Amino acid sequence: MKKVIYLKNKPIGDGKITIQSMTNTPTCDAEKTLSQINALAEAGADFVRVSVPDLASADAVKEICLKSPLPVIGDIHFAYEPALRAIENGIAKIRINPSNMPEKGLKAVVRMCAEYKVPIRVGVNKGSVKKNVTPQELVSLTLDAAKKIEDLGWDRLVLAVKTSDPSETVKAYRLLYEKTDYPLHIGLTEAGTPKYGLLKSAISIGSLLIDGIGDTVRVSLTGDPIQEIYAAKDLLIACGIEKNFVDVISCPTCARTEIDVENLALRIQKLTSKIKKSLKIAVMGCVVNGIGEGKSADFGVAGGKKKSIIFAKGDILKTVPNEEIESALIGLIEEYADE
Ligand code: SF4
Repeated sequence: MKKVIYLKNKPIGDGKITIQSMTNTPTCDAEKTLSQINALAEAGADFVRVSVPDLASADAVKEICLKSPLPVIGDIHFAYEPALRAIENGIAKIRINPSNMPEKGLKAVVRMCAEYKVPIRVGVNKGSVKKNVTPQELVSLTLDAAKKIEDLGWDRLVLAVKTSDPSETVKAYRLLYEKTDYPLHIGLTEAGTPKYGLLKSAISIGSLLIDGIGDTVRVSLTGDPIQEIYAAKDLLIACGIEKNFVDVISCPTCARTEIDVENLALRIQKLTSKIKKSLKIAVMGCVVNGIGEGKSADFGVAGGKKKSIIFAKGDILKTVPNEEIESALIGLIEEYADE
């Protein structure tokens, strides 16, 4: 039976895939960090991770945890004293990499986590271990570290085995999934810049999610962390896990196209991105094929020269001037969303 871990009152491992990102502001600047956390919460994050590299950051954690709308996870490498201070200051979870934490530090952190009931993510990244390990070895190192923490008296754990290679990452997580009941934090490490990082994440995280593996996701991308949340949400949609969204389908366009399909589809997508209902909208370039090919959609438009046809499930609703297509579709969508 899979374990469920709670960060404050928010679960990981209860069947809902949660999404998270990491701030890139200096944690010691609580105001700046909180402003980014608020933006991440607004974008749809479930959790946020902050680096805690020193005691000044660990001190700022107090105000951050008090004011954050999301449970805050502290990221610890090498120095363990900031972890102890962050736990005292209300952190909801600690992420440690046992490969870079001294034995004495590990014991102190685990004991304090047990005392304060703070879960630990054991994140052994391939880049941080001494030799070039195989996925099997990475999994063994992670399970050994988890066992060590259990032996020290604490078993509220989340495990992760990230590499920067999609194929190795998928192999490692599949193996780990077979060998543990702990929830898994899935993602790539150092995935890269938005375009290729997203592609690599889609391949690896997507493969795992489709297999039913993974409980919390971080799409790691270089740049603004808000983009990581949008990317994670898109991934959940693309994998068929998140169904309550407005799915805008559009034709590829051809010589028959009468309207600006691309811009209209993008506009509808943008204007409906916050609607949490399962709805399909078709933006089709012509009336010749548009209505028939768009008949699976709840609402759609088939473009004409000056006027276009608005339809619902393949039935014609009305004809509108081309300048009014967007408002006609948005009106129908909002009416449906309010029902
Ligand atoms: S729906 Fe019409 S415009 Fe769009 S690709 Fe098909 S035939 Fe061309």
